Amino acid sequence: MSIYTPTIGLEIHAELKTKTKMFCNSKNDPDEKSPNVNICPVCMGHPGTLPTINKEAVRHVLKVGTALGGELATNTYFDRKNYFYPDLPKGYQVSQYKNPLVSGGTLKDVLVTRIHLEEDTARSSHETGNTSLVDFNRAGIPLMELVTEPVIKSGKQASDFARELRLLLRSLEAGEANMEKGEMRVEANVSISDSDSLGTKVEIKNLNSLKAVEQAVAFEIGRQEDVLKRGEQVLQETRGWDENKQITFPQRIKEESQDYRYFPEPDLPRLDISDIPEFSLERLKSEISELPWEKRSRYADVYGIKDEDIEALVQDKKLGTLFEEATEKFADDKNMIQTAANYITSDLVGILKRGKKASQEISMTSESFCELMLMIKEGTVSSRGAKDVLSVLAIEGGDAKSVGEGLGLIQKSNEDELKLVVSNIISSHKDVVEDYKAGKESALQYLVGQAMKETKGSANPQILQKLFKELL
Ligand code: ADP
Ligand code: MG
Repeated sequence: MSIYTPTIGLEIHAELKTKTKMFCNSKNDPDEKSPNVNICPVCMGHPGTLPTINKEAVRHVLKVGTALGGELATNTYFDRKNYFYPDLPKGYQVSQYKNPLVSGGTLKDVLVTRIHLEEDTARSSHETGNTSLVDFNRAGIPLMELVTEPVIKSGKQASDFARELRLLLRSLEAGEANMEKGEMRVEANVSISDSDSLGTKVEIKNLNSLKAVEQAVAFEIGRQEDVLKRGEQVLQETRGWDENKQITFPQRIKEESQDYRYFPEPDLPRLDISDIPEFSLERLKSEISELPWEKRSRYADVYGIKDEDIEALVQDKKLGTLFEEATEKFADDKNMIQTAANYITSDLVGILKRGKKASQEISMTSESFCELMLMIKEGTVSSRGAKDVLSVLAIEGGDAKSVGEGLGLIQKSNEDELKLVVSNIISSHKDVVEDYKAGKESALQYLVGQAMKETKGSANPQILQKLFKELL
């Protein structure tokens, strides 16, 4: 055991999903491929232009704050954060410093310090040679920043927090939060200490996946331990994460906040949140549908689904939708709902893995999936056959009955029809029937086998067994 206790605080930026940018009418389209098309004089910082506040972006942040139980500002304003960089056309970023939209709140038992709203910077790409390119499509996109208290204890806990925030943003439809696309960016502040006071913090940037968050924090804790064990001091600095070498490396000595010379943005009015009806707590609450953690409890308490299966259903939108529609369709039938959960989380997930497909590529509709579940219940298809039907449905789509028929997997369950077969087998196998009546259980299996043969495997064996028992 190490004598040092690690402490981590996170700063997470997330691009918000809105039609237009934070302070102008240029499109907010993170998927735009042509550079410098979603721009205008306002987001390009031309002199004489005036910004206006995007209400939708404010609402997203207030909803996140409400979901986390934070305190919403009654009255707030924006600040200018001044610095020079080619990705910042105005020479300052409009952000919030003293007066964030949200203060406090918790997520996964981690205390949140604040959530504020700012604008994203442009995207620069450094080409080979002496060339750098700047794409201003991203400049001015609404960006939410959430800061946690220094209370996280491990890399795993840090990445779990970021995963939960991503899930929350998606479920509130506030943002897509794809880290590999830069829609969510995590910075981790890491320190270690052997006393009650916190040690010197190092900020790690360039973390572009949840795995990177976990690994970089774990590495940095170890690195700082080595530094202190050598009798040296941890330097307060910003470090990057090298994915290939799996190490953090020094980037720059951290600037102090006074370097930014923050001051209230004079071109924007104060934002009187409490005067705006759409921003009232009641209104915001009524617009928030079931939160991820509420969904987890419902799946566990009402349907008795296993924790790991719940996670698969809650984290994946397509799988979650299939399940949700099954719960609606089979409302009173918990067995059916559990069967549906099993087929989704084990069979369907397996099919996707083997086919190297993402869940969004599933062609099967919820109706078709529910139909298949009913066919299993009614014995129209065996549980073995259902897996084959599911494979085809998932990849190619179609309706469950036709696919089952096409694969020759539909079992005959019509009792009148099967009764004929059963009585034929009984009269043509008198000796086996005698054995059965004399108490030989295996004779029944033999008779069922003969009937299956007779129907070329298309009969439902459970029904056959039942009919034999009845007729004998
Ligand atoms: P700064 O002024 O340097 O930006 P802040 O106090 O705003 O520092 O904190 C930024 C982030 O760093 C927060 O997430 C906070 O929880 C975290 N943090 C602050 N001090 C420490 C520390 N000693 N160790 C780890 N994280 C810290
Ligand atoms: Mg800070």
